[in-house]
Amino acid sequence: MLISCFIFTQIPNILQKHSGVDKNFLFLPLFFRNVSFKMKYNIEFKGLKEGLHDFGFEVNNQFFAHFEESPVDNGNLEIKVTLEKRSSFLKLYLELAGWLELTCDRCLELYRQSVENSTEVFVKFGEGENDEGENIMWVSPEEHQLNLAQIIYEYAVLSIPMRHVHPKNSDGKRECNREMIEKLKKYKHAQAAEEVKTDPRWDALRKLGNNN
Ligand SMILES: [Zn+2]
Repeated sequence: MLISCFIFTQIPNILQKHSGVDKNFLFLPLFFRNVSFKMKYNIEFKGLKEGLHDFGFEVNNQFFAHFEESPVDNGNLEIKVTLEKRSSFLKLYLELAGWLELTCDRCLELYRQSVENSTEVFVKFGEGENDEGENIMWVSPEEHQLNLAQIIYEYAVLSIPMRHVHPKNSDGKRECNREMIEKLKKYKHAQAAEEVKTDPRWDALRKLGNNN
């Protein structure tokens, strides 16, 4: 078992050594999987008439797995996109709504945070940098489709509120795990008491007290 594991993990290195094949080349299946995933979020705009065009997309758990630094693993979002095509410009109107799974700051359990966000994005043709918060999407002049995966990801993350806490139920009470909150409180008290006990300043004071 160990030997076969070793051989398996070493295959790219061995092949690279003996054939000169780039190690990354051997991970092409992963590359293609990412490309085919992203293609689901394409809008073909070249053949469209001038005017407004509606599109719909969905985001689920698999979506976030494609973004290494994603602060979210699970979620479900619907994204409505209207593309405005004019002779002189392209503009996108995005509306996103659904839920994202977050960790509650009060009880540390996972909960579903309702989120929504809407934005307008100008499409510009050229080699500009896609800076955050600028609402501009740069696209190569030869391109005939827009890929929205990155922009959807960014607006999904931006829709996360600052405070992560369970929502309130119909009685107006938060759906937190009470037991867990109590445990956390006790733990904090115990920790604070421990800190006082081990604080060297207290030891110094005690010594002073003993000397008098
Ligand atoms: Zn909670």
